[in-house]
Formats: sequence, C-alpha cells, structure tokens
Amino acid sequence: MSLKVSLTSNSKFKGVDILLTSPWPKEVWNYGNAPTDIDVKTCGSASVASLAATLKPRYHFSALQGANYERLPYRNHLVLQENAQHVSRFIALASVGNPGKKKYIYAFNIVPMSGTDSAELVKQPLDVTENPYRKSGKDEKKTQRSKALEEEEPAQQFFFDLNRQQGKKRQSDGRGGHQGKQPKKHPQPTGPCWFCLASPEVEKHLVVSIGEHCYVALAKGGLTSDHVLILPIGHYQAMVDLSSDVVEECEKYKASLKKFYKSKAKRYVMFERNYRSQHLQLQVVPLPLSCCATDDIKESFIVQAQEQNIELLEIPVHTDIKQIVQPGTPYFYVELDNGEKLFHRIKKNFPLQFGREVLASEAILNIPTRADWRACKLSQDEEESQVKAFRKDFEPFDFSLED
Ligand SMILES: [Zn+2]
Repeated sequence: MSLKVSLTSNSKFKGVDILLTSPWPKEVWNYGNAPTDIDVKTCGSASVASLAATLKPRYHFSALQGANYERLPYRNHLVLQENAQHVSRFIALASVGNPGKKKYIYAFNIVPMSGTDSAELVKQPLDVTENPYRKSGKDEKKTQRSKALEEEEPAQQFFFDLNRQQGKKRQSDGRGGHQGKQPKKHPQPTGPCWFCLASPEVEKHLVVSIGEHCYVALAKGGLTSDHVLILPIGHYQAMVDLSSDVVEECEKYKASLKKFYKSKAKRYVMFERNYRSQHLQLQVVPLPLSCCATDDIKESFIVQAQEQNIELLEIPVHTDIKQIVQPGTPYFYVELDNGEKLFHRIKKNFPLQFGREVLASEAILNIPTRADWRACKLSQDEEESQVKAFRKDFEPFDFSLED
C-alpha cells in the first residue's frame, strides 16, 4: 500500500475543510450512529480511514456504497488531554437519481478554516462523539485487527501525497490560537472533601488499599460487609474527569477486585452517580453468584429505572463514558461484571440511593431495609475490624502490594 501522508510532521497543520473519497472510511460508524443499509463487515477502506484520521476533514463525503448516511460529528482531540480541535462530519450520499429516492444532494455553508476564528472553529456540538478512528487502550485487540485489515487490503485506486502542497495554504490567524501544552493542574476541591486522601476529613481507618493514583476503601454503611469504593487519591468529581493514568489504575483495581470476589463465589456490580457528589466514588458491590445472573441484575436495573421514569440506556461495551458525556454533565452509570454498561443522563431529581435501592431490592439481595446507607452505619470499632478482615483476604489479589 503506497498511501503516504506526512502532514503530522507539520505542527501547524490543523486539518482540511473538505475531503472527498470514493470508498467509505472503514469503521467510521464506531462510537456513533450505525448506518442502516450497508454491511459493516465488508464496507469501507482502512486506508481511507487512516487518511481521514490524519487529514481531520471538517466535512468528509463518500458515495461508493450508494447509501445515504450522516454520521454524528466526531472529535479530533482527546478530552482533557489535548487542546480542543474542530469536529469532523462524515456524510455518505446515494447515487444521483436513485430509484429508492435516497438522499444524494447535501447543501451546506462553510467558511474556510483559514477564515474562521479559532474559538468558533473548535466549538463542540452537543451530539459530538469520540473519534471513530482512535482506539482506546482497552481496544488493543481491535486495533490489531484493524492493522491487520490495513495490511491485508489490496492496493487502492488512488495515491495521495501531500508533501508538495504543504505550507502554501495555511495562513496564521494571528489570534495565538496555537497553544503549547498547558501545565497539568492538579484538581482541587472547592471545600472540605471526605474523599481526598490528603484531606483531614477522610476516614483513614476505612482505607483497605492505596495505589499510586487511586485507593480502595470500605463503603461506610456498606450494603454488604465487602462493599467497597474505588476512589481517586486526588480530587476528581467523576470518571469522565480522570486523566488516563488514573483511569488505568482504576481498571487495575477493578480487575483485582473481580478476581478477589470470584474467589469468594461472587460477582460485582459497579455504579457511579455523578450528581450531588463532589468526589468520584465508584461503588463496587459484590453479590453471591448463586443470588442472580448478570442478566438478571441488568434487567432489575432497567425495570426499576423504568418504574421511576429513569431512562437507563445500554451503551456499547467498548464505549467509554467519556465518549458520550462531557465533563460536568450529571449522570448515573452501572457497569456489570461482563463489561456491559448502563447509562442515564441526569436531568433533575435523581434518587440519590437508586443504585443501592436496586441491589437491595427483593429481585437481588432482598435486604430492602439496607438501601439507605445511614441505616447500615457501624461503630468505628466494627468498621475497623471489617477493614482488617477485608485487607487480609484481599492481600493476595492486591497489585499495590507487589513491587
Ligand atoms: Zn476530593
């Protein structure tokens, strides 16, 4: 394959306004709305996808499939890790005058990038999604698959070399739009915080394990005696605010806990409520395997949400909530032990104990009186002995103790 793009070496390159390709880019539908009348297994070219990933077109049009598809706009930057960039829109149009009367004309206005204010240019629409061509670490296998596909793909009908065009069309906008990397600020709470590990308010006797970025603590008034929380050591409000190293360690704790609970014939359910809370608490509640299957747990969450008019949506396993929600948006999120995820964007009045209520309900643990944590509070002595017991049991699974 002779496709070669060296634009990335030019730090001033921001993207192109319009890209026209005959084939669709492969997997452009990732993280977005699915196209309806095409076969996603065979459709699209990996070379076009890598071209689009590099060129960052504001509008990308393709027509080869004879189908109409407008993908939700996608981001070209990683939230909180990179400076904001313009979004890209992929639009596929059907053949002119097709008998099915599928859309084949797309009318739009565009002010060239060079003439657009940089703040205006990087504005993110509400329905923006993650970049379909970027793979998160978790999707390593998928990435390898895509790479294999790219290599397997026979030579395409085009050759693209932008070397000679560089430098002639970009005009400085003179607004200092191009910033260097900003120094990383450590997030700070606005008032006293019960969960910042360094804060005097934190109940240190509940802590069972401390890593580099996260720690695990027994839940105060837990649903069960081995109900724990995974928390960032520094002050972060929600999963969506975490930097990648914190997320990574959080994943390590999840994996350790999963193994630990499995050894006890239990499976976990995790949930997070980013609403009326100031420091992220990922609640991890183990349930006996004999109590109910993962599907039943999922079902209970969905049904009990419906009963309270809460729209709890299933989101794709490989979707990170970062991809569907902007930092600062309140949400409730459940993750099951098989990786399945349920998500609700909170508008107002979300029942604060909802996660516990579902798990304590008759359908699951059948301990409804324990739904409210205040009803489960123990004395400090009791808490201390529970922590001690948990720590001892968890020790063989605790990666933070390895060197
Ligand atoms: Zn905090």
